[in-house]
Amino acid sequence: MKSFGYAAESKTSALAPFHFERRELGPKDVAVAIDYCGICHSDIHQVRDEWGGSVYPMVPGHEIAGRVTAVGSEVTKFKAGDLAGVGVTVETCMVCENCKAGAEPYCTKGMVGTYNAKSYEGEMMQGGYSDNIVALEHYVYSISPKLDLAAVAPLLCAGITTYSPLRHWKVGPNKKVGVVGLGGLGHMGLKFAHSFGAHVVQFTTSESKIADAKKLGADEVVISKDADAMAKHKGSFDFILDCVSAPHDINAYLNLLRLDGAICLVGLPDQPVATSPFALVTNRRSLSGSMIGGMKETQEMLDYCAEKNIVSEIELIGYDRIAEAYERVVKGDVKYRFVLDGKTLKGQG
Ligand code: NAP
Ligand code: ZN
Repeated sequence: MKSFGYAAESKTSALAPFHFERRELGPKDVAVAIDYCGICHSDIHQVRDEWGGSVYPMVPGHEIAGRVTAVGSEVTKFKAGDLAGVGVTVETCMVCENCKAGAEPYCTKGMVGTYNAKSYEGEMMQGGYSDNIVALEHYVYSISPKLDLAAVAPLLCAGITTYSPLRHWKVGPNKKVGVVGLGGLGHMGLKFAHSFGAHVVQFTTSESKIADAKKLGADEVVISKDADAMAKHKGSFDFILDCVSAPHDINAYLNLLRLDGAICLVGLPDQPVATSPFALVTNRRSLSGSMIGGMKETQEMLDYCAEKNIVSEIELIGYDRIAEAYERVVKGDVKYRFVLDGKTLKGQG
């Protein structure tokens, strides 16, 4: 299938218009015309090869929302015209114990990412900064027409990546929960933790985000550079979700956990995390991580968002502004997710 989008040719080149081919529609495949694609910080890490092993040309993008244009002969969940989303995972083995438990991102054979990855059949996968995508039905989600489609796109990564650990650690009423970093992931973590009924404290390095954090559901906002403000929360949190994209001091947050409290990393800085054993053994604390979420859980999250009217706060931009958007994301200057408008691709190809 012919596709057109924006690709990086190397870790230093700007994204530029790119024609490429995807596989033809197979019996279990769904073809989706892409209306919107979010810009995740993981796109930037991979375009710039900050995690190593990046493969070019690379069409990034795994927060994909659009409309079904065609379905394969064995597809039952979708028909042409349906609203649909594709996220970070597009293939897993489906038979290992993790896949069977609905934890497909932890597939023991290795999950195939939406881009910068090869399918089990050897197809080089390309992402959602493009006009269409072909994906197996199992990795395509239904989207409610009740929600603004552009603002739904970031739910496919930022949404599920924060929803899943908050559910896993049973965040809810009578729990004190921290969210570190008010970016794309962080603002969704804040919205979900608030919606689940927890007492939520937003940690940020940006004084300019205090008012927004309160509007988005924070009961308290702490400027993480303020040692006195941090000290007031010592030993008091049940759970902290760390959504920061750059190296930072994790011990400052470990010290805020109460007995049996846990911090979960979803942010993926390109440097090892230095932890103080004393900060861990005190209060029997846990340090853990979480990757996106399973397919069933992703649909559950989208349905929850439709029911509760939860979407991402977005800045909708044209494809000509990707470079500017990347610079601003890296500076922590986005409120709170850039989304590419597919209409601006038309006529370019
Ligand atoms: P983002 O929008 O850039 O948000 C990151 C936030 O971290 C910023 O808004 C900023 O918040 C804070 N921050 C940035 N630099 C900092 C620094 N040097 N020190 C302290 N705080 C800093 O990024 P995102 O798209 O939410 O992604 C966040 C991270 O999650 C990325 O590393 C991404 O690759 C990773 N990720 C992981 C998964 C997963 O499955 N685990 C999925 C998606 C993304 P403040 O201004 O509030 O301080
Ligand atoms: Zn992402």
